[in-house]
Amino acid sequence: MAYQLNEKVRDMEPYEPISGTYRIRLDANESFLEVPECIKADMLHRISELHLNRYPDPLAAGVRSGFGKYYGVNPDLVTVGNGSDELLTLLTQTIMMKGEKLVYTSPDFSMYKCYGYLAENECVEFKKNADFTIDVDALANLINSERARMVIFSNPCNPTGVGLPRAEVVRLIESVPDCLVVVDEAYMEFWNQSVLDCVEKYDNLMVLKTCSKSLRMAGIRCGFAVSNRTITNAMRAVKSPYNVNSITQAAAEALFDYPQDLNSATDAVIRSRNELYASVKALADKFPDKLSLLPTAANFVYVKMPSGEAKRVFEAMKADGVIVRSMGDHLRITCGTDYENSEVLRLLEENL
Ligand SMILES: *Cc1c(COP(=O)(O)O)cnc(C)c1O
Repeated sequence: MAYQLNEKVRDMEPYEPISGTYRIRLDANESFLEVPECIKADMLHRISELHLNRYPDPLAAGVRSGFGKYYGVNPDLVTVGNGSDELLTLLTQTIMMKGEKLVYTSPDFSMYKCYGYLAENECVEFKKNADFTIDVDALANLINSERARMVIFSNPCNPTGVGLPRAEVVRLIESVPDCLVVVDEAYMEFWNQSVLDCVEKYDNLMVLKTCSKSLRMAGIRCGFAVSNRTITNAMRAVKSPYNVNSITQAAAEALFDYPQDLNSATDAVIRSRNELYASVKALADKFPDKLSLLPTAANFVYVKMPSGEAKRVFEAMKADGVIVRSMGDHLRITCGTDYENSEVLRLLEENL
């Protein structure tokens, strides 16, 4: 006899992002902007004042207060996590029980299904329409007939960039009273259909937010779950006490002290997104049999290509030091600086 891994994890592979150095990286939907030096200096100052021999604040009160002020929500309804990823783990492992049904939509962020699987939830797929919209009545029917306990989707969606309008999200929440609706609004700064203001009104809604996208701080690992008091209490009860380290807390607290800067950084990304979309769309209009794309509500475009072409173009761009994300017959391209956008466009056109 020898030690054997359990069958759940035996065939899993570690997550391997593309490694190596590339001159342009537009593969991970990060912000192309860095936090300005003066704000970084403020962060460093706060970090230098920390007592690192002590444990961090378990409830990250300063971060919640800054988040609450910036987004206009009650800080008592916010749970801070080590990235949204930690919060997704908590949701599937503790708010859900083994064997309970988790509905995920497809295509959508693949981690929902992955964490559900690891938590031994029964994962039920809901297929989106061909144009990546969600038929809310069909989704509600599936949830209710399966007696699903949780549904998770990103809005706007990663990877499609398509959003579900707020009124439709509300209609879903109201149609599935026995199911927790988790709306991952990681990209909602780039659109305007948030349901963050609804969390107190419903007993089955949670909104996830993150520092990783428009807030330009993917490196600090800081995410947020916003829900009513009952669910927030449960999240706080089940999380590990010191889940968010004090360096991250100090940096995030400083960040929220500069709301004007956060707003202008978001505006700059939206401008870049609009320009990238317009130029790729112009290319698609010129070569309709080679690529197509839908309007996007996020900070990336999701470009469809004929079978095998996306992978080939991805490899050609990579050879030229430009990394985008290759996903089956699509390329997902994060918007970047003017130069980065023009380079990706040039390589796209050259390699068609
Ligand atoms: C990037 C992203 C997040 C953020 O995850 P973190 O762990 O907070 O970095 C969450 N959801 C979706 C759909 C994303 O694309």
